[in-house]
Amino acid sequence: MSEEASQTIKSLEKIFRNNANLAKTLVGYIDKFYSKLQKDFGSFKIMDFCGTHEWTITHYGLRSLMPEGLELVAGPGCPVCVTPSYYIENAIRLGFEGIVIYTYGDVYRLPSLKPLNGASSLAEAKALGAEIKIVTGIGDAILDARAHGKEAVFLGIGFETVASGYAQTLISNLLPENLKLMSLVKLTPPAMIATVDILEKEEENSVKGIIAPGHVSTIIGAKSWKPVADRHKIPVVVTGFEPIDVLIAIAEILKQLVRGEAKVSIEYTRAVSWEGDLKAQEMICRAFKVVEDAWRGIGFLPESGLRISDHFASFDAFREYGIPEIAPESCQADLPKGCRCAEVVIGKEKPTNCPLFMKKCTPSSPVGPCMVSLEGTCAIWARFGANGLADRIADELELR
Ligand code: SF4
Ligand code: SF4
Repeated sequence: MSEEASQTIKSLEKIFRNNANLAKTLVGYIDKFYSKLQKDFGSFKIMDFCGTHEWTITHYGLRSLMPEGLELVAGPGCPVCVTPSYYIENAIRLGFEGIVIYTYGDVYRLPSLKPLNGASSLAEAKALGAEIKIVTGIGDAILDARAHGKEAVFLGIGFETVASGYAQTLISNLLPENLKLMSLVKLTPPAMIATVDILEKEEENSVKGIIAPGHVSTIIGAKSWKPVADRHKIPVVVTGFEPIDVLIAIAEILKQLVRGEAKVSIEYTRAVSWEGDLKAQEMICRAFKVVEDAWRGIGFLPESGLRISDHFASFDAFREYGIPEIAPESCQADLPKGCRCAEVVIGKEKPTNCPLFMKKCTPSSPVGPCMVSLEGTCAIWARFGANGLADRIADELELR
């Protein structure tokens, strides 16, 4: 890393990470705005969409700084958590048929529901002889597949952030003929709309503001969150990933609520614009088509997934290997017995209320999908002692 880049990172950390004075000021604003809202609203939730925001909130103990009645909850923003077991089962099957499977490290450990030849994850399939390779991105898979020339499939799990990269490999003709892409890319705003819809039906005064994902929004632009703000009449703030970013976003949401506003605003101005990356959006449109897609624990959501467009059909693993799309009945009951991931991914339930949390289900031996990825809510809570620990420390230090 150049000296200049490392200086920039240090100065950003000083502003957005190690800044106790600013944090105290922001918490003061949060308290002030919330006290104005309490009479009309009572208790309510602010939801973070993205697993990395959940990480920031939990890792830095931000919940312990919130006034009583203001609950920060995690949403469906971990692509590993919401990928149906069906697709992992198909990848395992292809692996046993001799096809090389490329996957990200967290997907490798994702438990599938129906074991095949004794394997309930790609990791187990590898142990039983299938050729499963962990890669950091599609570029690694391209180089490796070119070198060995065998039939291969890249599991393209992710949100819009990765879609532009996949699109570029298709448009620029970078994929060798022996490598197919199984596009399991999901689109974030439709899932946010569906999640708030579900909660609004079930809980009074549920979600009153959204902390929207920064990385995704560099691609899709803040404009893509306007349908969420308009439909639910709640503020949406596109936010960076440092603790000060998140505190600013919470203060901004509360300020809008006090003023009776429901706008999309951008806190993460150092990376995100209203329009987003138009070139990337154009590439995604050319390479993919938008489809109704299945979200594990949530169900089918309209216009919430990307599959390879007809123009690039020869690189589509679904067509090449005749894999039918998931049937609605496989999408229901898609979680192991006792696992509460369906409620965790929509912010209805806390991981600590799952009877399996840190008993049968742990980061080293996950039962449900939310315990697998670093961005999974249960894995984050498990790692950072969210089982009341942050609250107890805050109480001891008289911070609340
Ligand atoms: S890719 Fe970025 S925005 Fe998407 S879930 Fe991961 S950290 Fe969040
Ligand atoms: S603790 Fe494990 S089993 Fe329970 S909801 Fe989380 S991932 Fe599912």
